[in-house]
Amino acid sequence: MILQDKNHNSSPHLPFGDQRTAPWYGKSILSVKQFSDKDLQYIFEVAHEMREMVERVGTFDLLKGKILANLFYEPSTRTASSFTAAMERLGGSVIPINEVKYSSVAKGESLPDTIRSLECYSDVIVLRHPDVGASALAAQYARKPIINAGDGIGEHPTQALLDLFTILEEKGQVDGLSVTLLGDLKFGRTVHSLSRLLSLYNVRLNFIAPEILSMPREIIAELDEAGVPCLELQKLEEVLAETDVLYVTRVQKERFEDVKEYEKVKGTYIISPQTLATAKNDLVLMHPLPRVGEISMELDDDPRAAYFRQMEYGMYVRMALLAMVLGKA
Ligand code: ASP
Repeated sequence: MILQDKNHNSSPHLPFGDQRTAPWYGKSILSVKQFSDKDLQYIFEVAHEMREMVERVGTFDLLKGKILANLFYEPSTRTASSFTAAMERLGGSVIPINEVKYSSVAKGESLPDTIRSLECYSDVIVLRHPDVGASALAAQYARKPIINAGDGIGEHPTQALLDLFTILEEKGQVDGLSVTLLGDLKFGRTVHSLSRLLSLYNVRLNFIAPEILSMPREIIAELDEAGVPCLELQKLEEVLAETDVLYVTRVQKERFEDVKEYEKVKGTYIISPQTLATAKNDLVLMHPLPRVGEISMELDDDPRAAYFRQMEYGMYVRMALLAMVLGKA
């Protein structure tokens, strides 16, 4: 047990050991490339315990007195609010900066200066930024841990961790699964991070995208190198029957230089009850959200639709990560 709750009616007994010996203490989370399969096992154990603790006691004081700066240069609903909920459920507090236009960024302040300012007031910084590599840059200047909450079309490591945790909680294991990623694989940072993480397991990956939105060659090369069997297709029907996890993404309108190109591909895939007629009964249907029409609302009550549960799992994973980098797990 990492967390113990010996008496359900009182505050849980928590391991406030020597922070400096915790392996993730003070570390930034920038890319999924940082994680080994052992790390993942550990994160998911902690996340699982966070889930049990929330179900049992709701909020507890593991991070009492700690402050998170939530710095978002791009829109966010789930990532920003689940980090806030995660911090508050652990007894900490949050400085929310989700409208950078009202901060000194609007006066031309550089990212390093904004980071150096916020770390004077906080213990950890969650950063979403439109530029690939922005979190890595921030981490070069910061003394406090930076957590990458999406760097342009680069990576979204905490989303990939929660996606993998969802697969584990829903399917019981990852090895042996056929995972199909569909939609905008070029600009979608969640699928970049997720396919890299999945390469640590014994899985088969199917990539389905319009030609202009296919998975970047660099990631396909990494997967090849790791020995992951991958198929690139344009039609879901070719692999639907064997698919265990179907991960759907929206076409990332904001990343197109020419909106006409977006218009051409935006409605290529729409998953409806008819689409899933020939899919497995225990398929797990996922989406990082927001959806803009790729999954019909008629599927929301289908037990295979896991995208709302996926959001909730995100809070437990983010609680685990905050506890880890702040030396409490
Ligand atoms: N919310 C996810 C992200 O920030 C997915 C998306 O926006 O399509 O990458």
